[in-house]
Amino acid sequence: MKISSLALTAFVLLVGTTTHAFAPRGTTTLSITSTGSSSSSSSANIINSDDNAVLTSSTNSKNTALFTATSSSATTTTTASEVGVELGLKYCPIAPFGKGNEAKHVLGGKGANLAEMSELGLSVPPGFTITTECCNKFCNDATWDNSLPKPLWDSIIKSLDAVQDDMSSVFGSPENPLLLSVRSGAAISMPGMMDTVLNLGMNDKVVEGLAKKTDNPRFAWDSYRRFLEMFGNVVLEIPRSHFEDELDDMKYEKGVNEDSDLSAEDLQELVTRFKAVYETMDMQFPQDVLEQLSLSIGAVFKGWMGPRAIKYREVENIRNLLGTAVNVQAMVFGNMGDTSGTGVSFSREPNIGTRELFGEFLINAQGEDVVSGVRTPRPISELEDEMPEVYKEFVENNRILEAKFRDMQDIEFTIQEGKLYMLQTRNGKRGGEAAVKIAVDLVSEGLISKNEAIKKVLPEHLDQLLHPRFPDVEQKEYRDAVITRGLPASPGAAVGRIAMSNEKVVENKKNGIPSIMVRDETSPDDVEGMFSAEGILTARGGMTSHAAVVARGWGKPCVCGCTALSVDEEKGEITLTMDDGSQKTFKEGDFISLNGQSGEVLEGSQTVAPPTITGTLKNFMEWVDDVREIDVLANADTPADAKEARKNGANGIGLCRSEHMFFKPERISKVRQLILGSNEQAEEALKDLLKFQREDYEGIFKEMDGLPVTIRLLDPPLHEFLPSLKEENILADCAEQLGFTVDELKEKVEAMEEVNPMLGLRGCRLGITRPSIIKMQTRAILEAALNAIDAGIDAKPDIMVPLVGKVEEFRNQRDVIKSVADTVFAEQGKSCDYKIGTMIEIPRAALTAHEIAEEAEFFSFGSNDLTQMTFGYSRDDVGSFLPDYLNKGILQDDPFVTIDTEGVGQLIKMTVERGRNVRPDLKIGVCGEHGGDPRSVRFFANEAGLSYVSCSPFRVPIARLAAAQASVENMKE
Ligand code: PEP
Ligand code: MG
Repeated sequence: MKISSLALTAFVLLVGTTTHAFAPRGTTTLSITSTGSSSSSSSANIINSDDNAVLTSSTNSKNTALFTATSSSATTTTTASEVGVELGLKYCPIAPFGKGNEAKHVLGGKGANLAEMSELGLSVPPGFTITTECCNKFCNDATWDNSLPKPLWDSIIKSLDAVQDDMSSVFGSPENPLLLSVRSGAAISMPGMMDTVLNLGMNDKVVEGLAKKTDNPRFAWDSYRRFLEMFGNVVLEIPRSHFEDELDDMKYEKGVNEDSDLSAEDLQELVTRFKAVYETMDMQFPQDVLEQLSLSIGAVFKGWMGPRAIKYREVENIRNLLGTAVNVQAMVFGNMGDTSGTGVSFSREPNIGTRELFGEFLINAQGEDVVSGVRTPRPISELEDEMPEVYKEFVENNRILEAKFRDMQDIEFTIQEGKLYMLQTRNGKRGGEAAVKIAVDLVSEGLISKNEAIKKVLPEHLDQLLHPRFPDVEQKEYRDAVITRGLPASPGAAVGRIAMSNEKVVENKKNGIPSIMVRDETSPDDVEGMFSAEGILTARGGMTSHAAVVARGWGKPCVCGCTALSVDEEKGEITLTMDDGSQKTFKEGDFISLNGQSGEVLEGSQTVAPPTITGTLKNFMEWVDDVREIDVLANADTPADAKEARKNGANGIGLCRSEHMFFKPERISKVRQLILGSNEQAEEALKDLLKFQREDYEGIFKEMDGLPVTIRLLDPPLHEFLPSLKEENILADCAEQLGFTVDELKEKVEAMEEVNPMLGLRGCRLGITRPSIIKMQTRAILEAALNAIDAGIDAKPDIMVPLVGKVEEFRNQRDVIKSVADTVFAEQGKSCDYKIGTMIEIPRAALTAHEIAEEAEFFSFGSNDLTQMTFGYSRDDVGSFLPDYLNKGILQDDPFVTIDTEGVGQLIKMTVERGRNVRPDLKIGVCGEHGGDPRSVRFFANEAGLSYVSCSPFRVPIARLAAAQASVENMKE
């Protein structure tokens, strides 16, 4: 690879040759001594005949002019703020640590926190931050053109001069060298994504000088070889493996296992070999330290727009950042012998949140050794025995930083010859249990308010807490067991034997064998198996496919849309096709594990930890409920679901999909009888179904005593209840029950098939064309309510009509419901309160909300269907193009997971406005999957003005937290 092909072709190199006077004419001269070679191999010229100095340099031995740029015209700047004005910047381009703090979005998280630590008086090696705004200009402004304009470079040199003063050493001086680190740091941390160059300022002369000064040649050569590797990789994009291969060869030749076993001479030889790596890549390592610096700063800026960083921001949904800041800082060394060391530590335990330091350190090492796993670090507590004074100071620093940042900190430190230096601090990442404990503890320690505590616990933290989980997904054994990945459809950890049919899962269950149900996709015929399985894995289907919705409803782990999976039911085998095209086959009965949170599928039986609901969590959730302004209801279809919902703090039921009660084996045959049978058979089936439904509703009212229960009338296309034409056994049973031949039955089933069932005979269209079913359902609901009231229960039924698009449809259904109610009340000589409302899930209903609100007593957005119909994306087939749409940036999020605020959201807001114009007290909620998605909940609460969200019972705590966080956000505004 030639350097000209690299992404480094044009940024300014404003360095001179031997001794440079970097001050602009007319100002005080600052002298920086550079020991860079002035030979032809690394040239850097300042053509300073006028103010538009053209500066060129090259690190290419073939003498291609690689780095050219034009400096800005004015060169008489003296202060950072003047430079800012001159460069058209809003902020000072450079901030020395500890001298005035800008916000994170200007200094980046690392820079802002280094500034804070310096101001607090902690020992931070001196340095300065070049702002994110400069990165933005560097990458996007045509006048900067991927270069560092001269006024900026002048300021960098000036700031560097201050660092030299502070450290009493000189950048590039062999006698008394200062080495630098150059690190990226955006406002939002992007671990592992951005670039770092350490030991900057090493060259052939400095290494000799450093060896002499420290009387430690090994340290000097070790630092040099590390720099050659990092600079080559980060700045010149030479693959790291080229250097690692040389290091491995050297260790092999010397018969040692560890880097630390290589002698000074070995490392010196390694430096020669690393330089040869540059040559084989047709590049030359710049001996000029200022050239090293400008190239490194440019490389960090450029890294912001590199494919890796762009992808990371895309995946993590990081938007609206200016760029990365660059932190230039004096190096301190943990590898200077046994009184030096380095480490990483959290101020509290990050898994369970106890108040104790949690971290690791290494004596005589640099930071990368701790994280790379080359040597085994020691627990931080042992530092107390090793260096008691340093440890004491470190503990005190932790206390100071926690008090300042009012959160648990993740800290990097180095000890150089017995002196502690703080290199970085940031709010530490933590697991769910720790998140809740730390938030609650910080309140009791008086560091934060309850509202701040509410903001500190992320919805994902609760999600981890409320499902069984794999205890450590970073562990090697776990990572090695991952065989493929699908969509993370329903969180939790599941372990079981592969079972490929409903019957197999049910049989396993009877025998006490845990199963993972593996199917191409699931259908209503599978629900018994799905219910009995520990988890569900499907090859097809998106986040709102049948498997996903049903599994989430039950809080059962599910991975769906696993495209690498092919299921051969006949052979009793599943095959996974790996990225490299190789295949792995598993048989029915083999153990696999599912991680519904990440979508990972693992081989074997992995260890699972139970959900941990502690007293602290309960305490925290009480704060959450005190703050939130909207209700959180649950989508619950059975008394058991209702019980779970209430346990999780639901304020009622927002959606009871009454058809889900039809799927139990003894009921589905009655439904089939109702749909396919003669009039008499249908009548008889209705009577049985009435009994089943009434019992269920009564059970639900009992669990929900005093809370609203919203029951939706039959919605899905009828053929969903019919046996599949492929299922010969089921067809035969059904035919026998109804007195048909199998062929007659097949004909009837075929006749009911629709080309596009989701837009066909479903929802209120069923109720209008076949009113007997909704009459039965209405009767069941109201009789159950009256029975419950008789038993002293406060039953509050709301009856909901699905898939309304025209007000006339609603009127028709309302009239049917009312007439059944009148009949039931007359029969029983008593009545109860009930409401009749509608789902809003067809764009036409949204557009005519003012008409529908005249008639309907409540609205509930069916945001699954509303999304489907607004986008025109089939809920069940979206998996075939969604990954491409996300990769290509056509969609930022899966719209079936997070509400599309611009399109669907606009319809929602319009509906609310039109509806409430007509009926100011109209209760409006949402019961699609979005009701459990925290980002969507914020939109529903703060922007759409809904009264409630409704979601799966297992997501209720998460929605409660999201609703409270929305309220806290609102308070701030
Ligand atoms: C919806 O469409 O959002 C909804 C709740 O109904 P279903 O998912 O049952 O179609
Ligand atoms: Mg719907």
